Amino acid sequence: GETGLPGYLKGLNAEQRAAVEATDGPVLVLAGAGTGKTRVLTTRLAHILATGRANPWEILSVTFTNKAAREMKERVGAIIGEAVEGLPWLGTFHSIAAQILRRHAELVGLKPSFTILDTDDQLRLIKQILQAEGIDDKRWTPRHLASLIDGWKNRGIRPEKLGEEDRWTFADGKADVLYRLYQERLKVLNACDFGDLLLHNLTIFTENADVLALYHRRFRYLLVDEYQDTNVCQYLWLRLLARGSGNVCCVGDDDQSIYGWRGAEVDNILRFETDFPGATVIRLERNYRSTGHILGAASGLIRSNRSRLGKTLWTEDDPGEKVQVRGLWDGDAEARFVADEIEAFVRSGNQHNDIAILVRASWQMRAFEDRFIMLGLPYKVIGGPRFFERAEVRDAHAYMRLVRSAEDDLAFERIVNVPKRGIGETSVQKIAAAARSAGVSMSEMAGLMVQTDEIRGKARTALQVFLRDVERWRAQADTMRHDELAEIILDESGYTAMWREDKSPQAAGRLDNLKELIRSMGGFDTLEAYLEHVSLVADLDQASDGDEVSLMTLHAAKGLEFPLVFLPGWEETVFPSQRSLDEGGTASLEEERRLAYVGITRARERAIISFTANRMIFGRWQSVLPSRFIDELPPEHAEAKSETGYYDAGPGFAGVSEPADPFRSAYDSPGWKRFKAAQESGARRDPGVIEGKAKLIESGDNGAGGFKRGDRVFHLKFGYGRILVADGAKLTVAFDKAGEKKVVSSFVEKA
Ligand code: ATP
Ligand code: MG
Repeated sequence: GETGLPGYLKGLNAEQRAAVEATDGPVLVLAGAGTGKTRVLTTRLAHILATGRANPWEILSVTFTNKAAREMKERVGAIIGEAVEGLPWLGTFHSIAAQILRRHAELVGLKPSFTILDTDDQLRLIKQILQAEGIDDKRWTPRHLASLIDGWKNRGIRPEKLGEEDRWTFADGKADVLYRLYQERLKVLNACDFGDLLLHNLTIFTENADVLALYHRRFRYLLVDEYQDTNVCQYLWLRLLARGSGNVCCVGDDDQSIYGWRGAEVDNILRFETDFPGATVIRLERNYRSTGHILGAASGLIRSNRSRLGKTLWTEDDPGEKVQVRGLWDGDAEARFVADEIEAFVRSGNQHNDIAILVRASWQMRAFEDRFIMLGLPYKVIGGPRFFERAEVRDAHAYMRLVRSAEDDLAFERIVNVPKRGIGETSVQKIAAAARSAGVSMSEMAGLMVQTDEIRGKARTALQVFLRDVERWRAQADTMRHDELAEIILDESGYTAMWREDKSPQAAGRLDNLKELIRSMGGFDTLEAYLEHVSLVADLDQASDGDEVSLMTLHAAKGLEFPLVFLPGWEETVFPSQRSLDEGGTASLEEERRLAYVGITRARERAIISFTANRMIFGRWQSVLPSRFIDELPPEHAEAKSETGYYDAGPGFAGVSEPADPFRSAYDSPGWKRFKAAQESGARRDPGVIEGKAKLIESGDNGAGGFKRGDRVFHLKFGYGRILVADGAKLTVAFDKAGEKKVVSSFVEKA
């Protein structure tokens, strides 16, 4: 009987309860969608706390999104009846790894203030490297290399470990060199990318037994949701950490493995019992989420996949309404149809919140957004291109990143002349080149150059003012709330004023975004916490709890549920995607099918699938065929309805144009080329060397470049001269023609 059980165990079925109560040793919960895996994990966490088995800070819990982490935190609090403030190790793989890396950054040659680059920064950096290496970046695109690098990192492969076959995947055998250069540049920038977070953790753990031992003692229980989507690197990380207590519980569903393209390996599930001997494996079969027809349609569909473990799923729910399938003329008609259905559903007493539209690719969102805006229908986009990618938000972040970390050259370059201060392209390139050849940050080099004649006139004054401002903000950061400081920075830098004076139609929206940004910063304790969050999340801007329809990709919908789910665009080449069809094999097609399974199983009461006859794809009208997945739905659980009213041609989409890349490359400069030459001739740029040089400049040691009073030198701009004063890297030179000038030692050579 259930009497005498703590409340949180009561509503669970026997298998669920077993999974909650088997606290010690390895446990794998392998079960289909909606069977309560996440609920089990949450309850287990509460159970460990309620029974005093561990303190909140001794439990490591991994969720797939930050949103899921927030929800889990709230639910645990609700279960044990107190606010759980201190679950510091509950988050995504990335956020937890970032937290660990901050504490031990120096062990991998970073400073604790390191920046986490987003995709945009990453692509610019790669582009610079390709250009500097003279590689045709039209043929060998930055995006291609970025995805290769991600792939290697996901598999735990560092540049030196790159195999012969991988080397030849890019730029005729230069893949390893480029990967290494990229890693070196990251270090110089005191930055890392997403993939590095876990990879650096692995390096730290494997090379520092004492650090690993620290975390072994710390993490007494480990819990992992959506285990089917862990990649090799995450798996290795987890296995290393789990060796400590051995109390690891993973929950997952092989049928929902949808991140294979990003390196996830469903085999991790199969390996669990081998790697964790004596593991308890628990299966859950009762689905609590969906109606009989929804479950029947999803189960029927996934049965076409050959590689799966296979499971039984049943429900006591009503069969409900069959899954509906609608054919429509084109994307606009589809959007009109969906909007009409939404309005009808809401009129019959439901909330907008109860509804989700799940698309295969984010371009599909556009038609829905247009329609919803026109109707004034409230909606939010989850994941996808978003708030944090807008130019004004990225500019504001660059200011804050620079204030936090003087090494952040990408941030420096982005905003040193935004708003326009008269620090032109040439000056910026000069600073970049000199900084690189001296192995110091651009901020530091700029600080040095403004004391000399290397930069003159208006640019020098402007740069001086800018550097002084940054210094002041940096000092204020110690005493002031970070959101207040952000406001001050945006005002004092002239950034807000720039948009206020801007007469373009978008300016008002940008100002609103800046306000929203400051508001959202207020929700974090520190600037670090905020920036960490920004670099890790894809979903902060959906924090609003307004009553809105959710629009998102199928990938972003994992773990979620809604009473009504729309699944538009079920057409060959859209879903399954062109790419999966091109690849030809069954593996990618089966992954698409699992995605379809994830989509249908998000629905609690109603699922509506639609397809169109005509699609504008990459600017061209094409007639398309309904998805093969529609044929695979068992007719006893799905019904086709034709809606002739929607078969009318619409105006279609406008063409999409690529915005020009506003980033300016400093790599064309002679300084960079000189630096490259020096590097190739054997000068290494490991972090030690960089530190060494930086110190040399700071300390004003006479040895910089080996210049001393009386030396005869040559300067590219001022010609020949003789050194009067050598003050560290700053030299005062009497030039034969140009007269007495202050210059930076890296700009002169001995004559
Ligand atoms: P997915 O594979 O999609 O992530 P899941 O296995 O994690 O699904 P949950 O999200 O935990 O499933 O649960 C699905 C729904 O069923 C939730 O609304 C949850 O509250 C409910 N549920 C789970 N277990 C029970 C139970 N024992 N009694 C009542 N409702 C339950
Ligand atoms: Mg779940």
